Amino acid sequence: MKGTVVSSTNNTARVLCDDGATRLCSIKGKRIKSLAGTYNGLAVGDFVEVSPTEGGKGMITALQTRRNTFGRYNEKGKAEQAIAANIDRVFCVTSPHLPPFRPRFIDRLAVLAEWARVPFVIVLNKTDLGVPEDVAERLHDYEALGYRVVRTCARSGEGIDELRELLQNQVGVFAGQSGVGKSSLLNTLFPGIKRRTGEVSEKYDRGKHTTTMAEMILAEASFNAEAPFSGGAAEAGVRIIDTPGIRRLALRSLPAADLASCFPEMQALISDCAYGSKCSHTDEEGCVVREAAEEGTIHADRYESYLRIREELDQPIVWKKSGVRDPGRRERGLSGKVRTKIRGSGSADLEEHDALF
Ligand code: GDP
Repeated sequence: MKGTVVSSTNNTARVLCDDGATRLCSIKGKRIKSLAGTYNGLAVGDFVEVSPTEGGKGMITALQTRRNTFGRYNEKGKAEQAIAANIDRVFCVTSPHLPPFRPRFIDRLAVLAEWARVPFVIVLNKTDLGVPEDVAERLHDYEALGYRVVRTCARSGEGIDELRELLQNQVGVFAGQSGVGKSSLLNTLFPGIKRRTGEVSEKYDRGKHTTTMAEMILAEASFNAEAPFSGGAAEAGVRIIDTPGIRRLALRSLPAADLASCFPEMQALISDCAYGSKCSHTDEEGCVVREAAEEGTIHADRYESYLRIREELDQPIVWKKSGVRDPGRRERGLSGKVRTKIRGSGSADLEEHDALF
């Protein structure tokens, strides 16, 4: 029988099977070969084969090839961690205050969405708290890059219909820092699912962790037992993969040479770069990407995000688990020259949040 993983821990996964039943499944032989070495092997959204066992449980016998993955590097487990798989859209939930708006975090999530080749949507929640000019400006910049921006207020219901529309017949990932109101938005979008919400911690303005692991929420069509889900997008109804509030989003497993292609404004210039695909777009003399950043055609702060992620990707990785290949070769170090230059061009107000990312 086929099914979709709706939540997963180290050795077990809850699987919504084609017959409409959700089964708690173990993994045959404790390990799926193709996932050896990854942290918390199965991802929410994985399509699997299940052999039903007694007591309404099951055994996962095979994993279907993933169309894409949405993942990060797990610092604790020192391994790549696919949080979600087979996704259609990534929603980055943000807020103008409490917690503060963090473009650098948005940039990292956008890179993950680009890497998965799915549309990226920025949701600005808590609009009732007011949207400062600099936040509105940044959102405008993101729109100019082709990213959709939806302004919402979980309390008043503003923007909820627009968001619901974007979620229809999709597997959407909801991600954001904790406290931005992801759970509140989900409750407003789909009354009845009753996500647990938490107060934003006064002390750190960071929000408490009320969600601990990724989980697929099924709404509308997929609640219908008469029409069980068999993995086809047309039948998907609304499927949201809610992820835990993320504090630090480490990107380590993306090949460094592919990073620029995950920034649409850089992607457009890469073919004009004299150094071609060999260019790191950091300190090469005459690199068109670097020049565009210096001239301001590429937003200085986006370029800064690029440099930081690139620096991270260039660092050697210590893989804890055996059998994990280093998927991105770390070719070169970075000169601090450009960073200093670009920093001096207007991103200072963002610097105070750096410690988090
Ligand atoms: P999560 O950690 O992202 O799931 O955030 P929660 O949904 O738990 O919300 C964190 C806090 O923000 C709670 O105190 C919510 O009541 C509050 N909150 C959520 N949405 C809004 C909103 O649109 N406006 C305001 N002012 N507060 C909100």
